[in-house]
Amino acid sequence: MAESKLLLDMNSDELSDFVKDCGQPAFRAKQLYEWLVKGADFDEMKNLPMQFVDKLKNEGYRAQGVKIIKRLESQKDGTVKYLYSLFDGNVIEGVLMRYKYGNTICVSTQVGCRMNCAFCASGLDGLVRNLTAGEILGQVVAVNRENATKDDRGVTNIVLMGSGEPLDNYDNVCKFLSLVSDEKGLKISKRNVSLSTCGLCDKIVQLADDGFTPTMTISLHAPNDEMRKEIMPIAKKYSVKDIMRAVKYYFDKTGRRIIFEYSMIGGKNDTEECAVQLAALVKGLSCHINLIPLNYVKERGLGASGKKNIYKFKALLESKGVSVTVRRSMGSDIEGACGQLRRKVLK
Ligand code: SAH
Repeated sequence: MAESKLLLDMNSDELSDFVKDCGQPAFRAKQLYEWLVKGADFDEMKNLPMQFVDKLKNEGYRAQGVKIIKRLESQKDGTVKYLYSLFDGNVIEGVLMRYKYGNTICVSTQVGCRMNCAFCASGLDGLVRNLTAGEILGQVVAVNRENATKDDRGVTNIVLMGSGEPLDNYDNVCKFLSLVSDEKGLKISKRNVSLSTCGLCDKIVQLADDGFTPTMTISLHAPNDEMRKEIMPIAKKYSVKDIMRAVKYYFDKTGRRIIFEYSMIGGKNDTEECAVQLAALVKGLSCHINLIPLNYVKERGLGASGKKNIYKFKALLESKGVSVTVRRSMGSDIEGACGQLRRKVLK
């Protein structure tokens, strides 16, 4: 692999080696790392020798993974949608959701996506490229920095639920998971990180085997293979049974409750029969189901279930002992759904 020019891609040990190779004393690495995880650019690094900083700049190194180019705050619920630019001109998006218990940032893991789910805006143009670990971390760091100036706690929770399929960018995502909880860095508790996947079963198993423990969130959206294949092309590769086998393995290995996302599509996956099938599917597994009213994406044409239907579906699941909530749809006035804002801006 070509040498990374993004300093935020390095963990503290790698940065120490790098700084040493630059001929600088060891304590400079600590200073530099502190600036990087604060989201600073080179010009702010006043305690470093100017000569060293100039050398980094002249050699094309970068300190920041992303730059915030747009910020849209919801008037309804304080949710903030961010648009970031990458060094090569690509644009990605993210969301900050403010809850009573903390601030959750939703980060993107790829520019575009290969999965092409029938309701999602991110996959409309396919995959452009993977993000590096530092570009994923850069989103957290940039938003943290923006909020640190206000009376705010900054980012406490992370969900890998923005554009892209995290497990389709496995190595970079694993490195990100290590970086974000690094004791010398952002120190975000491993318990506060969730990873959402359309269900790449081999990678779910591998993640557990590799010792990572994010809350595993499965975008299920259908209780059987037939329907799932209609809305998620990945269902042709992995069956619902494969998914259940993988998450059981993940639970046994990590002890972490599994979350299922179920976006409610009007007249499609919101029938009584679907609820019955779904309840049977998750029976006996330590899990929770989030029902999400589908966000309408113009290019996709699918619509949300009615409120009444959603609550009927929920009641049916509950009657069968399933733990379930209807997720508040946040930021719907600011193109909050996956890939929507980016598309609007690109056009
Ligand atoms: N690729 C990963 C993470 C990105 S999508 C995954 O599939 O989980 C994040 C979540 O938003 C997924 O559950 C996805 O299915 C859902 N999603 C995408 N478009 C949506 C829309 N228009 N309305 C509601 N949920 C949507």
